[in-house]
Amino acid sequence: MPAEARFYRSLPENTVQCNLCHRFCKIRDGRPGLCRVRINRGGKLFTLNYGYPVTIARDPVEKKPLYHFLPGSSTLSAGTFGCNFRCGNCQNWEISQSSGEGMKLPFRSPGSIVQEALDTGCPSISCTYNEPTVFAEFALDIMTEARSAGLKSIWVSNGYMSANCLDAAEPLLDAANIDLKSMDDSFYRKICGCLLQPVLDNLKRLARSSVHLEITTLLIPGYSDSPEMLERLAEFITEELGPGIPWHVSAFVPEISWKMRDTPHTATALLDQAYAIGKQAGLLYVYASGNLENTCCPRCGNVVVERIRYSVIPHDRGGCCPGCAMPVVTIS
Ligand code: SF4
Repeated sequence: MPAEARFYRSLPENTVQCNLCHRFCKIRDGRPGLCRVRINRGGKLFTLNYGYPVTIARDPVEKKPLYHFLPGSSTLSAGTFGCNFRCGNCQNWEISQSSGEGMKLPFRSPGSIVQEALDTGCPSISCTYNEPTVFAEFALDIMTEARSAGLKSIWVSNGYMSANCLDAAEPLLDAANIDLKSMDDSFYRKICGCLLQPVLDNLKRLARSSVHLEITTLLIPGYSDSPEMLERLAEFITEELGPGIPWHVSAFVPEISWKMRDTPHTATALLDQAYAIGKQAGLLYVYASGNLENTCCPRCGNVVVERIRYSVIPHDRGGCCPGCAMPVVTIS
């Protein structure tokens, strides 16, 4: 049964305006929003994915990726279907670009997901795989129950949520990894069908909040890999968000992408170059997937957390560097 949405306003003639993300879709009676998982029925907006996770899995928190938040722990990851973006490079497109039609999914209450996290020894729950914004009501109810049960909540997001959505999520959110796909508005327009500025604004807001923030940039050859753009992106993080915000650069895998299968793989040399650009810009923590993944103390250089893929060996002392006691990772 679809649940009534919490983020919309009524307009004349049974039209509604969704205010959950920066698309602010105006939706006529009987029609869905651009994400295809919010539908206007008789002048009321309903969410189609409340209570219908497509995937629930126990993941290393490093897989989100979060490297400075509960390192070495597992997180119960849940995702539904739908997305407010249309990225040709999407690697989860089978769920992100689905309206749920034809999926036969059992209903899961928020409480049952929290209980599963407790039963499987996960100290956190991640809203991930597809965009949490488009299942915000379900995510918020999970987060509320998770907080009561002493669990942390994580979002892995494209950062295109509205201020209304962030107002509701921020008090319940402990950590987030937000994609900053490019510093070029033209990339966001052409590849994702949206705008860059709302993402930058949300990143600034999250960086000022108590939410632990990390950022990911997927290096797509020929689209989001120019050194000049990456310099601007790394400088934005350093200057506008703070040099201590971890930046992950990750590799594109064309054969599982939605519409960019003729694009080459990201070369290791490109990941290394992006890493160097991040360090040159003054970022304290830069990670290149599959290669440069250890957390080193920016003050004395000691290895604080060692990683070989998802195998994690913490050397920290209570979240601090074992050499000079600088606080580096959050452990509770
Ligand atoms: S969540 Fe975004 S894309 Fe979906 S209906 Fe609302 S405004 Fe439109």
